[in-house]
Amino acid sequence: MSPTPILSFHSIGDDPLPFELRHLTAPPEMLEGILKWLTKHRFKTISLGDYFEHLESKKEIPKKSLVLAFDDGYLDNWCFVHPLLKKYGHCGFILVTPEFVQKGEICRPTMEDVDSGLLLRQELPSRGYCNWAELGAMQSAGTLEVYSHFQTHAWWPISNKLVDFHRPGHVDISGIWNANPSAKPNWLDPDAKDIGMALPWGTPIYESARSQSAPRITVDKNVAATLVEHVDQNGGAEFFTKPGWETELSAMAKSLTATAQIQRETQADFEKRLQFECQESRRQIEINIPGHKCRFLGWPGGEWNETAQRIALETYDATLTTHPHATRLGENPHLIHRFFFGQRSHELTGWVWPSVMKFSSRLGKIRGDFGWKIRDFIANRAIGFGSRFCRGNRGFR
Ligand SMILES: [Zn+2]
Repeated sequence: MSPTPILSFHSIGDDPLPFELRHLTAPPEMLEGILKWLTKHRFKTISLGDYFEHLESKKEIPKKSLVLAFDDGYLDNWCFVHPLLKKYGHCGFILVTPEFVQKGEICRPTMEDVDSGLLLRQELPSRGYCNWAELGAMQSAGTLEVYSHFQTHAWWPISNKLVDFHRPGHVDISGIWNANPSAKPNWLDPDAKDIGMALPWGTPIYESARSQSAPRITVDKNVAATLVEHVDQNGGAEFFTKPGWETELSAMAKSLTATAQIQRETQADFEKRLQFECQESRRQIEINIPGHKCRFLGWPGGEWNETAQRIALETYDATLTTHPHATRLGENPHLIHRFFFGQRSHELTGWVWPSVMKFSSRLGKIRGDFGWKIRDFIANRAIGFGSRFCRGNRGFR
């Protein structure tokens, strides 16, 4: 039997995400093209639960199956993905980090409301994250099942090696999240004026890793405070336009860090933190979506290790990586792999059809289908040609 892949997306919307997350947004027309293509070619999208039971040899699945995944819980998944899945009779799952879920008990408008003339497409509030009402509605509609994407989705410093400074033009997104976790649900809000200012300019950025990857360290707060004060007294944001600012600030940071106290998280505390991330995210999803069993965890960034996996399996039936591989019957059903699509410029263009053809060739390659190479060749040529003449995904609006 051909392998059944999981194909993953992030944001699907009209407005690309900000900063270096821009590449995570794909246009809704591309997803619609893909869903139409899947329907036309009789592919069946199946639930993650069915896929897992298939991997456990407990359930048969259709020959032409695949699983669709959407990471991070963006509001545009509610506005665009949910109505599209409903329209074409497909399903998938959404990975949600409870710390990012927005407040609000009312489901906001979707493309269905635009289609029925209630508001204009450009009036759709699609920037931000879903609230529990929207997640619950997708869960009960069967369009997107809700699974865990950890409690914090954070990066933490793992050494005192300085890599950069939080500054205009280089916003430390994870630093902003860590500095003010309660503001995480609204950090994408278009009305949140200068999001960078949530963290003072000049804050040092140390070598970091995802929450689940390694024990974290804490560098004495006085190092950051002294650097920030220096930047503030020398022009604030303007400081970073002066020639030689980097040499000046780096030298200061190095000498301060060399004598600063560094606290290292113990292995026991690291494991306790992982346990909290696993248990708390499942608890919050199940409390807010009554009756739903949150059986799966998608590792943020797809990163996992033996320790994290051992701890996660105390709470979940299986975890999901982003290792590009279609997990087959006979392989470990508790560590499921998946592919990303639509997050790279060579998969997208201003036209829809080459992206859909690229998707079909990707799927064909994974499954070993006849004719995928020729489709891939045509799609690559068209995407290359199209990117010269179309504005392309990265500026699709
Ligand atoms: Zn993520």
